[in-house]
Amino acid sequence: MRLDTKHMRYLTVEDWRCLTAVETGSKNHEVVPTPLIAQLSGLRGGVHKNISALAKVGLIARLKNAKYDGYRLTYGGLDYLSLNTYRKRKDVYSVGNQIGVGKESDIFVVADEQGVQRVLKIHRLGRISFRTVKANRDYLKNRSSGSWMYMSRLAALKEYTFMQVLRENGFPVPEPLAQSRHTIVMSLIDAFPMRQISSVPDPASLYAELIAMIMRLAQFGLIHGDFNEFNILIKEETTPASADEKEPEKLTLTPILIDFPQMVSIDHANAEYYFDRDVNCIKRFFQRRFHFTSDEKGPYLSEAKRLVGKDGSVRLDVAVSASGFSKKMAKELEAYMKEVGVDGDGDPNAARGDEEDDSGNEDEEAEESEEDSEAKQLEVTQVESIQNDENRVIIGKD
Ligand code: ADP
Ligand code: MG
Repeated sequence: MRLDTKHMRYLTVEDWRCLTAVETGSKNHEVVPTPLIAQLSGLRGGVHKNISALAKVGLIARLKNAKYDGYRLTYGGLDYLSLNTYRKRKDVYSVGNQIGVGKESDIFVVADEQGVQRVLKIHRLGRISFRTVKANRDYLKNRSSGSWMYMSRLAALKEYTFMQVLRENGFPVPEPLAQSRHTIVMSLIDAFPMRQISSVPDPASLYAELIAMIMRLAQFGLIHGDFNEFNILIKEETTPASADEKEPEKLTLTPILIDFPQMVSIDHANAEYYFDRDVNCIKRFFQRRFHFTSDEKGPYLSEAKRLVGKDGSVRLDVAVSASGFSKKMAKELEAYMKEVGVDGDGDPNAARGDEEDDSGNEDEEAEESEEDSEAKQLEVTQVESIQNDENRVIIGKD
């Protein structure tokens, strides 16, 4: 979905108050009645002008079939509210290119006032379900008002909370910088997803490093749940050859892990399924892409479980539920994700429980291209250059 920020600067203080009123009203109303918008915005002169300004640029939408006259917030409206929060807090000054389109998210490069680039991730749960998963429509329709909004908020909050605790405990993840509503701001990782890397000098050591990361997550009580070539960014660093040339030029690859809305505790009822899937995603990718197969079987969940708490590592699954992202929220989000099949972006069949074969590769090429076409819808469109950002729109001026 586009993020058209150009109207932001033209909204008046009253327009913003009116937009905020619609947001507040939608906590209890699927369609926020016009008188309630007026009341919540506290604008004496009436809100009709503001409502029509907001509706005109698609930040709120009138619901025609409702029993009463009213409006609901659109994704665009929610985007504006969260950007406005970032603008006021000086987390974001300008918005640039879109670098990713996930199944249920949009990723943009943004910058702060100093021009330091950051990443804005907007969660858009409900997008797929409304568009393609017919069967799930009823489910969503029957849910309370704005379930897409609520679920997207939960996803953002979960992702942000996990990113924080992972970062604090030394995991290679982006730095979480800010969170508002259905969005988060994090540091920009100057790297490509492993998916886009055609060869590496030493697949065995990268493989070992990734498996070690899965095991280290387990040590802290966690399973990523979507550990695949889309969610591992590979940073490349070249160390020049030493002056005497005894040490040749060296290329170091550092994997950075992203995308956390589906993380689960190692004590989750389906922990084994998620753990095995994470391990197998890596195995399969290394086999197909780098023609590398590890001599070792596993690792298995039983081994991972033995590491929990080792060397004084804290239970991050426990830490997270104590810090803002409650167990109840986790349950709600998980139920939703399961229902609409949002569960792993590298393995489109996984949510349906299809265990793909690791064997018979006669059809490998066909399989790859099929996988590619699926991936097209899901994969990032990495814009040629993040630096060359002529679409940058400044939102930071008051
Ligand atoms: P989704 O949940 O939709 O899969 P991700 O968090 O995996 O979203 O992000 C989608 C893509 O956006 C990633 O594959 C990556 O290319 C890019 N991306 C996400 N976060 C960052 C970041 N912090 N730095 C650089 N690129 C990122
Ligand atoms: Mg992803």
